[in-house]
Amino acid sequence: MSGQDAEAQRRENAAAPRIPHLLARIRHLFEPHKRALVLTIALVFVGAAISVAPPLLTKHAFDFGLFPKDGAPNVPILLELVLIMVALWIASAIIGVWQTYLTASVGNKVMGELRIKLFSHLQRMELGFFTRTKTGVIQSRLQNDVGGVAGVLSNTVASVIGNTVTVMAAFVSMLILSWQLTIVAVILMPALIFAQRRIGAVRAKIAGLTQESLSNLTSITQESLSVSGILLAKSFTQQQAEIGRYATENVDQVRLQVKQTMSGQWFFATVQVFLSIVPAIVYLVAAWLILGGVEVTAGTIVAFTTVQARLMWPLMGLMRVALDLQTSSALFSRILEYLDLVPSIADKPLARPVPSENLGRIEFDEVVFRYPDAPEGSPATLKGVSFTIEPGQFAAFVGPSGAGKTTVSYLIPRLHDVSSGVIRFAGADVRELQQEDLMRNIGVVSQETYLFHATIAQNLRYAKPDATQQDLEEAAKQANIHKTIASFPDGYDTVVGERGYRLSGGEKQRVAIARVLLKNPAVLILDEATSALDSISERVVQSALETASRGRTTIAIAHRLSTVVDADVIFVVDGGRIVERGSHDELLNLDGVYAALYQRQVTTS
Ligand code: ADP
Repeated sequence: MSGQDAEAQRRENAAAPRIPHLLARIRHLFEPHKRALVLTIALVFVGAAISVAPPLLTKHAFDFGLFPKDGAPNVPILLELVLIMVALWIASAIIGVWQTYLTASVGNKVMGELRIKLFSHLQRMELGFFTRTKTGVIQSRLQNDVGGVAGVLSNTVASVIGNTVTVMAAFVSMLILSWQLTIVAVILMPALIFAQRRIGAVRAKIAGLTQESLSNLTSITQESLSVSGILLAKSFTQQQAEIGRYATENVDQVRLQVKQTMSGQWFFATVQVFLSIVPAIVYLVAAWLILGGVEVTAGTIVAFTTVQARLMWPLMGLMRVALDLQTSSALFSRILEYLDLVPSIADKPLARPVPSENLGRIEFDEVVFRYPDAPEGSPATLKGVSFTIEPGQFAAFVGPSGAGKTTVSYLIPRLHDVSSGVIRFAGADVRELQQEDLMRNIGVVSQETYLFHATIAQNLRYAKPDATQQDLEEAAKQANIHKTIASFPDGYDTVVGERGYRLSGGEKQRVAIARVLLKNPAVLILDEATSALDSISERVVQSALETASRGRTTIAIAHRLSTVVDADVIFVVDGGRIVERGSHDELLNLDGVYAALYQRQVTTS
């Protein structure tokens, strides 16, 4: 699976989405930082202009300072030239630091803005998006892709401008020094470009493979070194197999890393050799020129070879630009693709708050629902469900697993939209209501309680940020959990969650119930809230739930029928339809599906 993941990721990298007006949109992102960018470009030009001078000064230092025609070195001239050179280099270094600061800060600011934009946008996406998309992929967009954007500015934009200007400046210095030698150097360039291209292609390929192998390793680590992964491996005694899987990938990783280092070294070595060959040829050509009567001083040769060597790296940087641009536009495209996703469930322009009249009334009118990601041709999950729950009623949904009970509970807060039919909340079509207000009126306690890695108090205040300590304790008391919390050394400040204090299943459920009590919603949905608990915890949680459901419309999805015998109304769901409805006694008298289910549970328990 991990291999396929990496392959998919690689393909995704290669096939970035085509975003119209990409350049205009990228420009738009940088728009607020225009001044900093203009200043950066100005600095680049100033820096480049300064760098033209030193080679010419070098020539003069040689020809008039060190080896003047009339004999001994001329110290005052030499000193003057050297001081100017040092001053220019210091100025150039300061400009470099300033420019790097500007590009780094603009790049990172744009990245920060993009990251928060994307995160906020994802928060608004419908639930279906997250069930369809792998968590890893979403995380990678936020972390890797957005992270890569910072590099775009500092690496691509700055290097294009910087290198172009440097190359041009060096070229100008070279021409001033000697146009004949400049021609020699230019003629030799294609050989280097060719070598660099070849080695570059090989390096890119190896880098891709290394990255892929690394992501395989990471994915194995994530899979098998998580709590669930370790439990699975231990319980099926698959540790050896896991080690084997890791070892195979690890061998690849080692081999590729060596290859990568070596390809880098080959690249470097080629450039080094080239850097020493060009001056050698320049010396020979200079000798030939001098013999031919052209005036070429020692200073010219020294200055020329210095500039020419400095020219090499910027030139190679420019050659890489096409690749950099491709990478960065792929990064931008992928981020923009996510930003362009339109949440399929969002407030209508005239969405209204939940009416206060009939609050708690829930109606399903011929609701048909098919999951957006269900396979083609599969039957709908809900096939025409109609029911009404009156305010304050305790309604239960029972039936075999996979019947569609949880789906019913997802549709009420509009986590998904119906395929056809209408769901009304307090008499209004849920699609006409403000989603946040709808959510505020609904509390859910499910089988899997999710607590953040934070203190109990912080987890509780997630429901009501301004709750006082007294509010917290009140809710915890009603949820039968106050005494337990009070017995912890840190009390309400005990950190819970993955890396914190491990609460038992029943304790977690009761914290979740206290959290819902603080939210104080008109409608409470209990989705198999006690089915994962042992019978003692179940009883404690059950009694907390009874307190919680008092005075509000409650929908209980139940596996154990004993918990719903007192319900005002019980809906028996089977195959996406409500097949029976009524009170416990009515349903027993009906002697149908419910009666059979009940008989089975009574006799087996
Ligand atoms: P119940 O709560 O009665 O056990 P559910 O409402 O969870 O049943 O599921 C009803 C059906 O919908 C099941 O067949 C399940 O496989 C399917 N289902 C649930 N979630 C999804 C989903 N995200 N995408 C596609 N099908 C789903």
